[in-house]
Amino acid sequence: MDIADLRDRILKQDRRALARAITLVESARADHRAHAGELLESLRGNGKQALRIGLSGTPGVGKSTFIESFGMMLTAKGLKVAVLAVDPSSARSGGSILGDKTRMERLSRDPNAFIRPSPSQSHLGGVARRTREAVALCEAFGFDVVLIETVGVGQSETVVAEMSDLFLLLLAPAGGDELQGVKRGIMEMADIILVNKADGELKSTAMRTCADYAGALRLLRKRPQDPEGFPKAMTVSALQEDGLEKSWDEMTALTEWRRESGHWDMRRSAQADYWFHEEVRQGVLALLENGDVKAAIDQLGARVSAGEVTPSAAADRVLGMLDLKTG
Ligand code: GDP
Repeated sequence: MDIADLRDRILKQDRRALARAITLVESARADHRAHAGELLESLRGNGKQALRIGLSGTPGVGKSTFIESFGMMLTAKGLKVAVLAVDPSSARSGGSILGDKTRMERLSRDPNAFIRPSPSQSHLGGVARRTREAVALCEAFGFDVVLIETVGVGQSETVVAEMSDLFLLLLAPAGGDELQGVKRGIMEMADIILVNKADGELKSTAMRTCADYAGALRLLRKRPQDPEGFPKAMTVSALQEDGLEKSWDEMTALTEWRRESGHWDMRRSAQADYWFHEEVRQGVLALLENGDVKAAIDQLGARVSAGEVTPSAAADRVLGMLDLKTG
């Protein structure tokens, strides 16, 4: 495979080359991994930075509607927009497939947009790496904005937040004082909470919900990466394309402040470090999947249960089998 050629074509904004490169980073084959590594290394530090926006929300909240309206608004401003997805669910039955082009028909036909569905991998660590590498490819290609979509279940928000410059949480209007069971940890990740569907009959509920969240956000500890007034909650209607300009203005204001204050660069550095540690961790965990090691773990596990060997001694034996000195 001619990696130098692929690199050049990506830098010349050849979309087919980009799609091919993403397929390469999504592959688990050892030779593909090696080529992907080479490609990413050759693209590293080419100076282009996209605004990476993470977007999370439960199914049905309006993620794809929002991405389509918001994406179309950005391309109308002359910006190039890529959409990627982190889908933690392995089973593709039921539920919507994130980043599915049929969910964003208008945007997928837009020459300034690029939509890539989530790679079909059940293992979140694997999906995280592939998405992160796809983000890097989109950035090298020259997209101005990379939207990374995930569905609001458990760990995937952390994964997406750790590869984003801005993190948006999309919520639906809801009655009652229950804050929709949104976990505090997830709220703490959000830079902007968007209460969607603020239109028609739902408008007043959406405004109340928004006020509730604004109140909840004010109770959070002030983060050094935020100027006055952030994180904030606002209402939008993805369907009626209402509030989108305003939300973009807020995102731009926050981004500019972070760039000027140095928090943008600090966050990017901290994220690189986070992913380095995460890759090491994933690599060590992968060693445990090795056939011999796995068999030893099963066998020793039975002996530990039977009281024939202590847990620590058994663990030492397994750790002794791991060959960490690769390459
Ligand atoms: P996703 O599963 O989060 O991607 O949600 P979808 O974008 O597929 O939207 C789920 C449903 O909510 C669809 O029927 C949309 O038409 C509807 N919807 C999305 N955004 C809005 C909105 O702003 N207002 C209203 N009233 N409905 C919306």
